[in-house]
Amino acid sequence: MRILVTNDDGIFADGLWTLVGELKSIADIVVVAPDREMSAIGTAVSLHQPVRARKVTPKVDGVETYAVEGTPADSVILALGKLVRDRVDLVISGINRGANLGDDVLISGTVGAALQASLHGFPAFAISLALGDNLHFGNAAKFATLLAIRFSSGALPNNICLNVNLPLEQIKGVRLTHPARKSHTDTVEERYDNGRQHYQLVRQRINKPIDEGTDIWAVEQGNISISPLLTLDANPSPLISDSLCAELFQELQQRA
Ligand code: MN
Repeated sequence: MRILVTNDDGIFADGLWTLVGELKSIADIVVVAPDREMSAIGTAVSLHQPVRARKVTPKVDGVETYAVEGTPADSVILALGKLVRDRVDLVISGINRGANLGDDVLISGTVGAALQASLHGFPAFAISLALGDNLHFGNAAKFATLLAIRFSSGALPNNICLNVNLPLEQIKGVRLTHPARKSHTDTVEERYDNGRQHYQLVRQRINKPIDEGTDIWAVEQGNISISPLLTLDANPSPLISDSLCAELFQELQQRA
C-alpha cells in the first residue's frame, strides 16, 4: 500500500512526522504538504497563480517528500495529478495540532485536504488532536495506522472521507458521530495599529449544551470521534459501524 500524507500545519510539523514514523511500518509513504502553516484555509485552491513544489529532506529516512508553495488542497491536487500519480491507495491529512470539530470542519485546511482527495476519487481521512499543554501525537498516529490497515483490507470502503478527532486526555472509546451544527460564532472587533483602524475576526465556541452523537460531544466525553463527511455513493456505507468503532478501540488499547 502507498499512502499520501499531507497537513495544514506545514511540512515540518511534529504531528505529520509522528504519523509518518508510525505508518512506515505498514506502507510506502509519500509526503506532499504546504511549506508553511496554512490552518483555517479550508478547501482553497490556487487557480490564479503558479504553484511551486520542491523536494526536501524528510524528517523520517527514506520518505519521498515535497514542500508546496500552496494550500493543503493544492498539495493534494499536485500530488495526485503529477508528483505521485497512479501510485496512491489512501490519503491522510494530519495529525493536526488542535481539534477540527463542528462548524470548524468547513474552514479546516486539514479537512480541506482530505475532502479534495475524496473529490479525486481517493479514500481519505483527516486526523486531529485536541490542544493541550503536552501534545503527544503517538496515540493518534497509532489510530491512523489502524484505520489505514482497514482501508487496505477492504474493511473500510474506498469511497469515503472521514474526519477523525482525538481527545487530549485518556481515551475512553471510539464513537461514530456527525459534525455539531452552529457550534461557533464569529465576532468582529475594531482595533488600531499605529492609529490605523483594522478589523479582527474572532472565532469562538458557542457556550451551549452540545447534542449527543455529535463530534464535539464525543471528544468532550473523552472519545475518539469518527465523522463520515462524504461518501461517493447515495447511501452511507454499512461498513462504518458502531461495532467497527468498538473493535478499533480494543485494538488501540492493546497497542498503547
Ligand atoms: Mn492546522
